[in-house]
Amino acid sequence: MNLPANTPGMQYLVGAIDCHIHAPPHLNGRSVTVFEAVRQAAAAGMRAIGLMDNFCNSAGYAALAMAELGHLGVEVFGGLIMQPVAGGVTAAAARAALGYGYGPGTAARFISLPTHHTRFVSQKEGRSPAYLETTFWVPENGVVPDPVPEIMEMVAAADAVFDCGHVSGREAVALAAEAKRRGVTRVRTHCSRYALDDIRAIVDLGGYAEFCFFPLTHATTVALTHVDQEKHKTMGGRMTIDEMAERIRAASPARAILSSDSGVYILPPPVEAFREFMLLAEAADFTPAEIHQMNTINPATLFRVA
Ligand SMILES: [Zn+2]
Repeated sequence: MNLPANTPGMQYLVGAIDCHIHAPPHLNGRSVTVFEAVRQAAAAGMRAIGLMDNFCNSAGYAALAMAELGHLGVEVFGGLIMQPVAGGVTAAAARAALGYGYGPGTAARFISLPTHHTRFVSQKEGRSPAYLETTFWVPENGVVPDPVPEIMEMVAAADAVFDCGHVSGREAVALAAEAKRRGVTRVRTHCSRYALDDIRAIVDLGGYAEFCFFPLTHATTVALTHVDQEKHKTMGGRMTIDEMAERIRAASPARAILSSDSGVYILPPPVEAFREFMLLAEAADFTPAEIHQMNTINPATLFRVA
């Protein structure tokens, strides 16, 4: 599905980076394969895409896509989300991901704490006490548990991104602070629903605040399988662009990143989702320069896209 170049909003995609695409295989349907995602991004003139996968280190798919389709000019990168089936929150899983690929530059660009296997999300999903017991969380005292500090040091040594995963705003602030202490200079947080003060604290610590198209969409209104056979609606339901724009302003365009978080079958393919998101940002009075900052310059800086 390639859209004509004169479709409204396509100009925002030229040279842009969508760092959050769920095109790898999944338990439920996908709108595109990894190769289709790359071809469609190339047709839109995009510079890079980042693959997200709750089941394995997506740097492998990215390296394979680059070997096969690198001539199209889209840089494809991936990383590890430390969900249990991907190895869990372990130093061994992180270490392997930071070395895995088809040679220099193809290993994981980010190491992420779990998305759904966190205390924060699992509680909202109504998981069992036994399940909750195994999930990642940062206690109220703010002390980041082992082995995360060790993993942060590995990430810092590899000059990769530490991604705080789907934790609460309070936990993300604590993680951003610990990451900074451990020498991490690239921190990614998922701020679509965080309180304004938490977002300000994260960017003051040097983190980037990512905002996604997904929470603005109908995909929040139905239950979906995310990491196992259980279906859950996205916590918090559907947001408006005005609610999100207030949070983006709190981060400031200088530290905000816009991504599609698409790939699931119920949403448009990633390029179309990204285009619609840019038009919503435009409708919320972000200028073309601000949109360029948030969909090109900031993700390029964070993920070391040349
Ligand atoms: Zn996602």
